Amino acid sequence: MDSVFAPWRIDWVERENENPDADCVFCAFREGDADRENNVVARSDHAFVLLNNYPYNPGHVMVVPHDHTGEYGELDDETLLDHAHLKQRCFDALEAGLGPDAYNAGLNLGGSAAGGSIDDHLHTHVVPRWEGDTNFMPVVSDTKVIVEAVEDTYDRLHDAFAAQDDTTVTDPDAAVRIDAPPKRL
Ligand SMILES: [Zn+2]
Repeated sequence: MDSVFAPWRIDWVERENENPDADCVFCAFREGDADRENNVVARSDHAFVLLNNYPYNPGHVMVVPHDHTGEYGELDDETLLDHAHLKQRCFDALEAGLGPDAYNAGLNLGGSAAGGSIDDHLHTHVVPRWEGDTNFMPVVSDTKVIVEAVEDTYDRLHDAFAAQDDTTVTDPDAAVRIDAPPKRL
């Protein structure tokens, strides 16, 4: 039997919500200023990059548009383009920071059947893959090791985003600010 590859089925981002006014954790992180604590590693005008707290593999990130919607058709052109540019920058940062062999990237839309745990605020998963890799979580089930791995990945990706053109770092504990679309060849 063929199995459908869907690492985002174990999407898990339950965390303390520091903003009691926001029911949605992604909206709370959009507004929040504790970027390192929240694992928000980069921010553009209309989206941000969040490390998954429960990664399928090291470097598993989510690219989250600011708009609180589960409907892809509701994103306006400006947001769609900004979100796509931020994905391009993610691939570049992961390449520089972790050097995987390949990637899976995708959205879960339409509720629990798609396997996501937060379906009212859409987000794109980007999962680095290595030859012969297996689900990182069952292999590394020690919580402390996973937390350390996510912190290490945060540093690597923060450095990688900061090294890209047209980015600004105001504070090592704040997300890297993306100032312009990525330069393409
Ligand atoms: Zn939201």
